[in-house]
Parts: sequence; C-alpha cells; structure tokens
Amino acid sequence: MSDALLRRPELLRSEALIGGRWEDSGARYDVLNPATGACLAEVAMHGADAATHAVDAASAALPSWSSLSAGERAAILRRWHDLILDNAEDLARLMTAEQGKPLAEARGEVAYAASFLAWFAEEARRVYGTVIPGNAPGRRLTVIRQPVGVVAAITPWNFPAAMITRKVAPALAVGCTVVLKPSELTPLSALALACLGAEAGVPAGVFNVVSGDAPAIGEVLTGDPRVRKFSFTGSTPVGKMLAAKCMATVKRVSLELGGNAPFIVFDDADIDAAVAGAIASKFRNSGQTCVCANRFLVQDGIYDRFAAALARKVGLLNAGDGLAGSADQGPLINAEAVAKVERHRVDAVERGARILAQGQVSGPSQGHFARAALLVDVAPESLLAREETFGPLAGLIRFDHEEEAIRLANDTPAGLAAYIFTADHGRATRVSEALEYGMVGLNTGLISTEVAPFGGVKESGFGREGSRFGIDDYVSMKLIAAEIAPA
Ligand code: NAP
Repeated sequence: MSDALLRRPELLRSEALIGGRWEDSGARYDVLNPATGACLAEVAMHGADAATHAVDAASAALPSWSSLSAGERAAILRRWHDLILDNAEDLARLMTAEQGKPLAEARGEVAYAASFLAWFAEEARRVYGTVIPGNAPGRRLTVIRQPVGVVAAITPWNFPAAMITRKVAPALAVGCTVVLKPSELTPLSALALACLGAEAGVPAGVFNVVSGDAPAIGEVLTGDPRVRKFSFTGSTPVGKMLAAKCMATVKRVSLELGGNAPFIVFDDADIDAAVAGAIASKFRNSGQTCVCANRFLVQDGIYDRFAAALARKVGLLNAGDGLAGSADQGPLINAEAVAKVERHRVDAVERGARILAQGQVSGPSQGHFARAALLVDVAPESLLAREETFGPLAGLIRFDHEEEAIRLANDTPAGLAAYIFTADHGRATRVSEALEYGMVGLNTGLISTEVAPFGGVKESGFGREGSRFGIDDYVSMKLIAAEIAPA
C-alpha cells in the first residue's frame, strides 16, 4: 500500500502482537482492497502455535492487570480513545482500503469504535458488588464481581474496528486480558488499533492480536482451558460450531450472530421518515450489517407510495471506490458476496418479483461492486427473505393486517434487530413487544450506540455489548458467606 495513504505509515502493521512484541511468521497472506483488487499488505499468517503463545502472554499479564485499580485501567483506556480520535483519519482510510465502505462511513465507525473505550473507561469504576441481609444471626453475605480471566475474541470484517472495541473495552476495563483474532479479510484495522493501544500504555500481554489460519487459531481459543470467556461476532453457523467447542471446558460464551431484520411499514407511517430509515438501514455499508433491513413488510394501503418514494432514492445510489469521495456505497467484501446478492435477486424474480429501481456502479472493473436494487412483489418464501442477503438488495413484501405483519416478521430463526414505522402509539407498543428480537427501531433505521445494549435473541445469539450491561459478560459473581463469631 502506498505510504501516501496514511499520515503515520507506522500504523500499517503486518505482524501479530503477542506479549507486547510484533511477531512475524514464515508465511504471509495478502490483504486486498475490494474496490480495486490491489494488495494492501502481506500479513503474517499465524496458526495454533502463535495462538497458544498469545494465551500464554494473556495469562501471564492477567494478575498484574486485574490488580490495578479501576481508575488506573480507565486512564489507559481513555488515552487509547484519545489516540484513536487523534489518528481517526488514518484509521478511516485504512478501513476503507481493506473493507470498502465509503470514507464518511469509515470515519463514523472509527468514532463509534472509540466511543466504547470512553464509555467502558467510565463504567469500569462502577462494577459494584452487593451486600445481602444475612439469612441467620451472625451471617454476612457479600457478593463481589471479579474479572472472568483470559478472554478470546473473534470478530468479523464488516465493522473491522467497532466489533473489536465493543468487546475489548469492557474486558480490559474490568481487568480481563484478551487474545483477539480479527477476520483475515480486515486485519489491518485491528493491528492499527493494537499499535495505538500499546502507545496508550496497554501493558504487554494485556491485548494480543493473532491472525491467519482461522480454524487452527479457533481450535486453541475455544479449547485452551486457560481461556475463560469466548466472545464471537460473525455468522450463525460458525458461531454455533465454535460455541459447541467451548463447552468442553465450560467457558463463558457470548454470541453476536447473523440477523434477518424485518422492516415493517404500516399505512399510517410518515413516508419520508420510513424511506430515510430504509436507506439508512438497508444500504449503509452496502447492506453488509447484521442489523440491516433484510425484509421490507409493507401494508397494502401505503405499499405503492412507499415503493415509488424508495425507488427514487435507490435509483440515485452510486457504488464506487470509497476512497474516491463521490460514492454513496463501496464494493462488497469479495466476489462470493456479489454472487450471493445476484443469487437472491434471480431467485426472487423467478418467484414473481419485479425490479423497480437500480442504482449505478462507477467503481473500477476489478472491484466487487453490486448495484443497489429495489424489488417489489417479493414472495415471503424467497431466499432474500429467508437468509441474510448481506448486500444492497431491498425486497418489498405486501401485508394486510397487524397480526400478519407480526407473524411474517417472527417467522425466522434469527432475532437480532427489527424496525417499525407507524404513527399509532398503541400499535407501536403492541408490535414492539410482540416482535421476537433483541432490538427494535421505532420510526428510525439507526439503533446502534455505545450507551444502549446491542444483541439478539433466538439464533442471533446471547449476551449484550455496549451500555452498562456490556460489563456483565466479563465479570463473574462471587458470594462470600461469612459466619461472624459472637462477641
Ligand atoms: P464469519 O464467516 O462467521 O466470520 C467471523 C469470524 O469468524 C472471522 O474472524 C472468521 O475468520 C472467523 N472464523 C470463520 N471460521 C472459523 C473457524 N472455523 N474457526 C475460527 N474462526 C473462524 O462471518 P463474517 O462473514 O466475517 O461476518 C458476517 C456475519 O457476521 C454476518 O452473519 C453478520 O450478521 C454477522 N455479524 C453480527 C453482528 C452482531 O453484532 N450480531 C455484528 C457484525 C456481524 P476469517 O475471516 O479469518 O475466516
């Protein structure tokens, strides 16, 4: 990658960070720019040995890190937050180069990623215990909350910075140490964050990053008994498989898995707000977000007007190189992602759907671009309504009454995010409560913030990230039941 991309070229790292040392390996893999196909870096290909060394380092660092005061750990997290913001432009450019999202979105993600460090630096000082009235004379029952220990985290490519800090910030804040395996598609953001963490004073071994052979690293992180907590964000099949391995050593597990978000527009909705919400939810990150609208359920009375208004916006979307500045959307992550969108489009059309609008592609021909598209008259059994499309394809399904919308919305094993657009307060409350989802956006297409709990139900996983509840996954409760001798 050209040094001109970054103000501080030293943020472009290509080795693993283990025990405070940057470790190379015999083999390397290419990190490619999905907009151009250019090789950005050759990153050290690590496997089981490096993962074991990283667990060694995290175990060795645990006693001293967990014995610091919460305020001392918070000061380091705060410095890390500030350094991320000081270097935000470099981090955003690196992210756009390896992941594809437009620079404006990458800047937004960098700020969002930093926000978890500030938030959990504050929360670290409030990990309170409880004193319970004794159950018998002379009994003292005290509950304290302690760090779970060494944490292993595996993260995806669609948010290459925020998915990391959302786990690492609460873990470090309460005194855990971490071994992270980022996606091999986007390791550069993770390594740059680690570089800034070290600069902020995160001690050697407290935060380790190993990338390369995912199954080999995964075997160690799910199997090593010293790892006491496993936190995964990614697809449902991989999450299920890795969580099952964790049970052999009974690790604490958090899973942030795939979604299949319904976006329900009722007849009484404000059309402009619903269209703005649809664009934000469906087309952000080119449709590659776990919470992105996957199925538009639109009531009969508003269906044609909503479709026409959304079509006007979709027709204007332009996919191009995110670094070029004029693109509303970047490329998809790779050729398989483009092929999946195409498969979903063809399947929907074969089942009777019509293409109402399509955007433009202006990016390089080597890039993995998909045109934004809006389909109407989609059959509920279409692939695009049953699986995560993970691309810029919006499909509208017609419904008649409230109960039907709820039934269609809940008819999926996933349960991450759902959206409702309505002006009727009673309906908003009824439907929000009836939806089997971890998060509901009501008259908004944007729900993510560091101050609110993020997570799913059903096969979208369990555990919550962000908010004051985000601490809970990284602490264990201990009861100290004391018998006080009489005077
Ligand atoms: P993925 O294929 O499941 O990969 C996620 C992570 O798991 C990557 O780091 C990947 O490594 C690793 N991995 C894959 N196979 C592995 C194995 N056998 N052993 C150990 N690690 C393994 O998912 P993705 O395509 O990166 O991400 C998209 C998915 O993530 C979507 O389903 C999306 O909905 C979900 N997601 C959920 C949330 C949430 O908060 N609920 C947030 C973002 C994304 P490599 O990439 O190196 O192979």
